[in-house]
Amino acid sequence: MSDKEEMGYEIVEEDDGAEGDWNGETAEGGCDGDCEGCSGSCEGCSGSCEGCSGSCSQQDLRAQAHPMSHVKRVIGVVSGKGGVGKSLVTSLLAIEMRKKGLKTAILDGDLTGPSIPRIFGIHEKAAGNAFGILPSESAAGTKIMSVNLILDNETDAVIWRGPVVAGVVKQFWSDVQWGDVDVMLVDMPPGTGDVPLTVFQSLHVDGVVVATSPQQLVGLVVEKAVNMAEMMQIPVLGFVENMSVFKCPQCGAVHEIYGPGATDALAARHAGRPVCKLPIDPAFARASDSGAIESLDCHELDPLLDAIAKL
Ligand code: ADP
Repeated sequence: MSDKEEMGYEIVEEDDGAEGDWNGETAEGGCDGDCEGCSGSCEGCSGSCEGCSGSCSQQDLRAQAHPMSHVKRVIGVVSGKGGVGKSLVTSLLAIEMRKKGLKTAILDGDLTGPSIPRIFGIHEKAAGNAFGILPSESAAGTKIMSVNLILDNETDAVIWRGPVVAGVVKQFWSDVQWGDVDVMLVDMPPGTGDVPLTVFQSLHVDGVVVATSPQQLVGLVVEKAVNMAEMMQIPVLGFVENMSVFKCPQCGAVHEIYGPGATDALAARHAGRPVCKLPIDPAFARASDSGAIESLDCHELDPLLDAIAKL
C-alpha cells in the first residue's frame, strides 16, 4: 500500500460547474451544509462530509488515487504565466530523474496548453481497460497522461469551464492506472486561479518547483504562485530561471536578452531555495518541437533533483 493510500483519500464529487463562492460557509459564518468547495474553516467539523452537521473545521478535498497506482512523491511544476518554459522544466526533470533509475511519471495538468506528449514524441491515443485509463509511455519509460492523449485531434480546443478542467485533472489522478511511480511531476496550469487551486487541493502535492523567466514582470507574477503554494503549506523546493541568458555560439559572449533576472532575489525572499538557470538554447526548442527531448542532457537542474530526493 502506498503512502498516499495509507493516508486514506476521500472522494469528492465533481462541481456542477456553477459559478460562485468556493467557500461553503454562509454569510453568517456558519456552514451551509454543502461541502463542495468548502474552505474547511467552520467550527466543529469532523472533516468528513458524511453526516456533516454543517459546521466544518477541516475538510480533506484530496481525490482518491486509482487502486492500481502507487505514487510515492508528487511534485508540482508551477509558473505565474504561460510560455516561461514550465513544460520544458517538467520534462527535463523527469528525464534526469529517469536517468538516475527512478520510475517517473508526468501528469499534464495544463489542459488548455497541453504540450507534454508532443515534447516526448507521443502521438498515439491513450489506451484503457476494464480498470481505467492506461498512461502512455515515453521511449525512456516515463509514464504520461495528458488531455491530448484522449482528444480526437491534437489541435482540438479544450473549451471547458474551470470546474470541468479541474475535474479532468482529478480524473487523471483517480482513473489512471499509474502503477509504481517514484516521482510524479505535475505540469500545473499557470497562475493562481480556480484550476491550480483545485489541483493543489485534490492531489497530494509534496512540493513545488517554480519555473520563471528573467523579466521583472514575470518575477512579480510568479511570486503570487509561490505565495499560493506557501499559503497551502506546500514546500517550495526551488526555482528555475529559464531563458536566463543567451550564449553566442560564435564568440561565446553571454547576453542577458531579458535583462538581469529577478529570480535570485525572489528565492532569497523565500527561504533561499536553490535557483537553477537554463540558457536560451535553440537545442531545447528543436528537441521539444521534434519530440526528441529525451536525447538531451541537462545538469543545470541537479540541485532540484537533490531537493526532490531529500523529500
Ligand atoms: P510553458 O509550459 O511555460 O507554457 P513551454 O515549456 O511550453 O512553456 O515553452 C514555450 C516554448 O518556448 C516552447 O516552444 C519551448 O520549446 C521554448 N523554450 C522554452 N524554454 C526554452 C529555452 N531555454 N531555450 C529555447 N527555447 C525554449
